[in-house]
Formats: sequence, structure tokens, C-alpha cells
Amino acid sequence: MAPPARLLVLGGTTEAADLVRRLHAPGGLAGVGQVEVTTSLAGRTARPAPLPGGRRVGGFGGPEGLARYLADEGIDVLVDATHPFAAHMPWHAAEAAAATGVRRLRLLRPGWSSQPGDRWHVVADLDAAGAELARQGRHRVFLTTGRQELAPFAALADAGTWFLIRTIDPPDPQPLVGAVVVLSRGPFDVAAERDLLLEYDIDALVTKDSGGDATSAKLDAARALGLDVVVVARPPTPSGPVVPDVDGALAWLVSQLGPAPGGG
Ligand code: NAP
Repeated sequence: MAPPARLLVLGGTTEAADLVRRLHAPGGLAGVGQVEVTTSLAGRTARPAPLPGGRRVGGFGGPEGLARYLADEGIDVLVDATHPFAAHMPWHAAEAAAATGVRRLRLLRPGWSSQPGDRWHVVADLDAAGAELARQGRHRVFLTTGRQELAPFAALADAGTWFLIRTIDPPDPQPLVGAVVVLSRGPFDVAAERDLLLEYDIDALVTKDSGGDATSAKLDAARALGLDVVVVARPPTPSGPVVPDVDGALAWLVSQLGPAPGGG
């Protein structure tokens, strides 16, 4: 009997967790023999959700470290399901996969698209988002860019802009003078987002183009209220096979790993 295929999933996203759960569900990889799945997390979240399969936590030590891990662990397939704004790991994954000959897939959820009525201002990065807020003269801003990405707005806060910050884990340190922090994890719904924007008298939002349904309600609420939204565009991602969702990843894995011996 053939040994199980070994999969490494680079995680830290809802899609990565969903993929790993589906891989362990009956019929998850229908038509393919056994697989052994390990999820890799950077270690940014204090209490990551429990997942079936193996888990390792912490950086690999650059692309060379990842290549060493792939070789030492006999990994057959690498699924890079890191966040659309993970700027380094996808490149490390591409380099390590190329160096070792391990097959690699990028699972990347599509970005959001603006709709009629949206008042979006798309910018290249967080520094540009700060500059855009200053240009618009906005003073009560809802910031959902992540707890480790607040520093680019510190000068604005010092100059009198007030921020409502929403993060999953508390920012430490919190560099924005006078800001209010709400801790919450999606999914969010439109009515609650609208209430939040009204309660804090928000006049602009800043978000990364993370995509997905879990955090898109704020965009619907902003549209309904006619608010400006500063949208930070995604960083570039390496070329190679990309799928937009877990179904696509499962189909790709079946195509790569082939039918189980005896049709199993
Ligand atoms: P990044 O800039 O691409 O990664 C920085 C370093 O963290 C990498 O060089 C790598 O260290 C380590 N790393 C990243 N993802 C890893 C993983 N899955 N397993 C092991 N090591 C990993 O990414 P980031 O923006 O810091 O994000 C870190 C993690 O948070 C990612 O897993 C991502 O999926 C998740 N996340 C990010 C965001 C976001 O907005 N950036 C949002 C939600 C979730 P070494 O070079 O030492 O290997």
C-alpha cells in the first residue's frame, strides 16, 4: 500500500482552517488515498482554533528554513493558504517549493469589488491610507487594518484625528492617542456595523482589501451611510496555480494526488 501523501498547509486564515477540516471529513479527498496534514501557523493569534491533523507554530527561518522543513518532513504538497496581506510567506513558499520540487498551490480568496454608491479610495499601502485621510480632512475614523498595523496612523492621531480601532487580540502597544479599541472577531452583520458607525459618529473607514464575507458588512454599511472608505490594495503574489476557495483547493489536490490504489 502506498504511504500517505504528506500535505503542509500554511495557515492563519479561515480558508486554511476550513480546508484542513474538509480534508479530515469523510469523503473530503474523495478518490485519493490517505493524506497526512500538518497546519503551520506563524503564532500571531493567542488562541488559535483547534484543528484536526498536525500543527506546528512559528517561522521556519526564511525560504531556506522552509525548504529544509519540506525536505526533512517528506512533504509532497504545499498549500499556501496564508492571508492575502501576508507579504512574505507566499514568496518564501514559492522559493522553497521551487528549490525542493514540492508542488505548491496558493489558496487566495478574491478581493472585494466596489459597487454603485461606494465612495472608495484605493491606496497602495497603509502610509498612503494615512495620507488619504489627511487629504480628505477626516476626523473620526474606523480602523480595521489589524492590531500590528496602527503605527502609520500615529501622526494623524497626534494631530487630532480620533480613531475607533477594531481588532481580534488587543494591540500591544496601542500607539494612537485617544483611540477606542473594540475587540471582536467576525463575521459581522450589516445592521450591527451600521449601528457602530452611527454610535461613534464615524466619517471614514480604513480597511485592507481582505476579501471574503466575514468582514464585508462594514462596506455595505458605509455605502448605506455614504461614508468614505480608504481601501488598501493587496501586495503582489507569486505566479503559479491559484484557487479562490476550499472547493478549488480540494479539486486541485485530487488532480495532483490522483486516484487511490484500487479506486479508494
Ligand atoms: P508575512 O509577512 O508573510 O510573514 C512574516 C513571517 O512570519 C514569515 O517570513 C514567516 O517567518 C512567518 N510566517 C508567516 N506565516 C506563517 C505560517 N503560516 N507558518 C509559519 N510561519 C509563518 O505574514 P504576516 O502578515 O506577518 O502574517 C502572519 C500570519 O498571520 C500568516 O500566517 C497570515 O496568514 C496570518 N494573517 C495575516 C493577516 C494580515 O493582514 N497580514 C491577517 C490575518 C491573518 P519565517 O520567514 O521565519 O518562516
